[in-house]
Amino acid sequence: MITITGTAQFEAWQGKRLPGVEEVRPGVFSIPIPFINNPMRYTLAYLLVGEGETALVDPGWDSDEGWEALKAGLAAAGLTPSSITGIVVTHFHPDHLGMAGRLRAASGAWVALGEHEPQAVSWGSEPDAFVAADRTQFEAWGVPADFLDEVTFHNGTWAQMASVQEPERRLADGELLPIAGLEVRVLATPGHTPGHICLLDEANGLILTGDHVLPRITPHVSLETRNQADPLGDYLTSLAAMDVAADMEVLPAHEYRFRGLPERVVELRQHTLARSAEVLAVLESGTAETVWDVSRQLTWSRGFDSLRGFTLRLALAETASHLVYLAARGTAVDIAVPRSTAAVG
Ligand SMILES: [Zn+2]
Repeated sequence: MITITGTAQFEAWQGKRLPGVEEVRPGVFSIPIPFINNPMRYTLAYLLVGEGETALVDPGWDSDEGWEALKAGLAAAGLTPSSITGIVVTHFHPDHLGMAGRLRAASGAWVALGEHEPQAVSWGSEPDAFVAADRTQFEAWGVPADFLDEVTFHNGTWAQMASVQEPERRLADGELLPIAGLEVRVLATPGHTPGHICLLDEANGLILTGDHVLPRITPHVSLETRNQADPLGDYLTSLAAMDVAADMEVLPAHEYRFRGLPERVVELRQHTLARSAEVLAVLESGTAETVWDVSRQLTWSRGFDSLRGFTLRLALAETASHLVYLAARGTAVDIAVPRSTAAVG
């Protein structure tokens, strides 16, 4: 069992309210940023105050409401957006990277992502080709024609993904954040995304885990970008890498902070392996010929038929990641899992 240390955050989570800004350690603040129209409700941005330089980790979903929340959080620390000199983002998803552009414009700060995160150019320069390749992939995964439109990307998706500005910096495993007065180390944790990073602040006994380890939900590990051959294998390796932070307090990007990282890692590993066992059982039953067939036979919290649109896409990509994982470990997987050319990181 984990020990919840962010008790006010937990109460706010349960009460469906936005938690307050907290100073977790001297010079380390958590600032909840609203995640609009999403059940996760908020992203926890972290402010790390150095000497004359200041990092903001995961600025969150881009919205006017979020921008006001961020400014209010900075004000609680006696700062303004122009105080920020470095914007560090644990992974490229829009509930983390989204507001980086707005904060960069207001501060002149650099933006940094892990060195293996996809780039905007990864999605190609031809929206029609991007959309067609994505559709071809999901057809090959056995998605019936009636569902292809809702599951696949559209030109607007391409425009959104390809318009993200390339970050000024890339952070490698083991590197210290280039912020004066901080000794915060980058820990590469691929899985949820190919270039996901965690941040270790040993002096303060803190680890910022992004979406790699959350107290309550299991992060999505999807077969998505082509530069990640075996995302689930990577994810399990990245869970093992949490050993270095066994005694640290965990500052996740959603929900609430806690202690008991080793216990949480065990739960996440068991959950993942149980899911793989479920996929294996479907394979052994000989009743599935496509990714779609396998997905339909797995248990989903509200049933497979309730999954629609982007959620259905994620479910299929999660199933595909298990098929690739099992094949990589010697299981005979007779189901083809072709990858679209749409994303080369
Ligand atoms: Zn997230």
